[in-house]
Amino acid sequence: MESMFSASKRKLLIEVAWEVCNQVGGIYTVIRSKVPSMVEKWDTDYILLGPYFPQRAAVEFEPITHDDGTEIGRVVLNMRSRGLDVQYGHWLITGKPRVVLFGIASLGPAIEQVKYQLWERHQISTLGVEDLVNQVVGFGELVRIFLTELAAESAKHVDIVVHFHEWMASSGLPDLRKDNVKVATVFTTHATMLGRYLAQNESGFYGKLPFFDWQREAKHYNIEAQATIERLSAQLSHVFTTVSDVTARECEVFLGRVPDLILPNGLNIVRFTAVHEFQNLHVKFKERIHEFIMGHFFQSYSFDLEKTLYFFTSGRFEFSNKGYDITLEALARLNWKMREANMDMTVVMFMITKQPFKSINPDVLHSRALLDEIQETCKAIENQLGDKLFLNAASGEDINLPDLNQFVDEYWRLRLRRTIQSFKTKQLPPFVTHDLVEEDDMVRFIRQVQLVNNAHDRVKVVYHPDFISSTNPLFGLDYGQFVRGCHLGVFPSYYEPWGYTPLECVVRGIPTVTSDLSGFGDFIMQIMRDYENRGIYVVNRKTQTFNEAADQLANILFRFVRLSQRDRITQRNRVENIAEVFDWTNLRSYYDTAHDLALKRRKP
Ligand code: UDP
Repeated sequence: MESMFSASKRKLLIEVAWEVCNQVGGIYTVIRSKVPSMVEKWDTDYILLGPYFPQRAAVEFEPITHDDGTEIGRVVLNMRSRGLDVQYGHWLITGKPRVVLFGIASLGPAIEQVKYQLWERHQISTLGVEDLVNQVVGFGELVRIFLTELAAESAKHVDIVVHFHEWMASSGLPDLRKDNVKVATVFTTHATMLGRYLAQNESGFYGKLPFFDWQREAKHYNIEAQATIERLSAQLSHVFTTVSDVTARECEVFLGRVPDLILPNGLNIVRFTAVHEFQNLHVKFKERIHEFIMGHFFQSYSFDLEKTLYFFTSGRFEFSNKGYDITLEALARLNWKMREANMDMTVVMFMITKQPFKSINPDVLHSRALLDEIQETCKAIENQLGDKLFLNAASGEDINLPDLNQFVDEYWRLRLRRTIQSFKTKQLPPFVTHDLVEEDDMVRFIRQVQLVNNAHDRVKVVYHPDFISSTNPLFGLDYGQFVRGCHLGVFPSYYEPWGYTPLECVVRGIPTVTSDLSGFGDFIMQIMRDYENRGIYVVNRKTQTFNEAADQLANILFRFVRLSQRDRITQRNRVENIAEVFDWTNLRSYYDTAHDLALKRRKP
């Protein structure tokens, strides 16, 4: 029950994150997609704090230029009068919330004092840290100053809840608590620093998890400052949360506190009113992928596009964490199964990630260009033929279809022949689309499992070491459109605190593979019984060996390949039907609970 005191007061919710108006990775998606439903509940009593990077902010931030008479506005003016760079305005996204952004450099040499205090008061050592940590510490300090002044000015008549996301937002939190600043605090970690490093580098990570010594490991990986800020934030906040049960177990070991609550991630879901609209989009964007495939493969050999399925995986280049290894292994087994079964289907697997590259492979670009030329030539022939045939039909006596060759000029016939000739090659279609700066694990593994696009392979691989954007000349699709054009998303992660990529498939009506070690997979298993029936396949990586899990995945893929088109359409409908569950208007309630609890704990 809420105390009488707080029930009578207005409430203000402030969310703090490094990725407010500053897209780096997944947290941006969390915050941004959640805004509309936060604004729905909190209206103007919802404010976000972030760092100020002028170039990034330019496109999504609109300053408030007048004195708006609010408590936030007053604190902003106060801080500015002391020479601090504090930007105040609206974030230009759906919901248009107010944001305050801090120019970190304006702290000047005072940053050294801040770092000294972190050591003096909390034993957080920031000696010799990378520049990002310095920036984060500066940001944390400006947030601390802001909140301290805001509380001093308005805590009498407003209950303030501050929600920090990640250690990158919370280096000021320990001081806020020590100084007893009158704000209720929630800290959410979206992963643990140590978990990410150790899962990648220690084999048998989960078995060893209970026995890691956080301090020793932090020292070993040279992330003591980060890990300590994370740990203190977890321990000192009124309410500590994370995004999945999977990550909660790490929190216990690395951060020394069991999370009070799990706050699963959602999306702002806009569903089509006409049920079949998303199915039409699948067809439309699949056509675009077909065009890429023709350019990429057909110069070497061709296959039936009507009997081709597009699978994809995507994410940062964390080779084993993201399960790229097990995916390739399973694909090799799938290839063998399909050949054994004499299937005439083709699977094309896209591996989409980000690695340093010099440029798109010129041959890949060239064949794409040649295909476009063939298409143009065909169009020209079609026009000429159409006109002449029409004239002939209208004026002639013969009612039979004449020999059509006579209607095409020698020029076009030759040009078509030449283009086709230069298009055809004896080389195999490359399995990587770009010239990489150096050969990486993906390339090595693809070679090792021999998925090198031989004509007889039923499974083809296209490794695209860059994220997909609409300006990309190979696809001309943005990421969301690309997802829609595919048939299946494959994400059997080994380490994945949440994992938006399978969820992004679900809301677009695309079936997906996830794993029980990913936050999303774990969550779906908890809330749904018949998830597999609905097109969400969960690979058991918790208790199976790599080999067993690869087998399970290969079987899942093989079953999927054997579905009829009608089955696939039905399945897409079923998947898309789940979307609602992950709408923030439903999942916001977890956040509401955290905020209520924090207020209660601050003033029991
Ligand atoms: N993504 C993208 N373009 C791409 C591939 C991926 O924008 O070509 C995005 C994808 O939409 C997702 C994010 O990258 O939102 C990856 O988030 P996820 O939670 O899967 O992994 P994390 O980055 O948190 O490890």
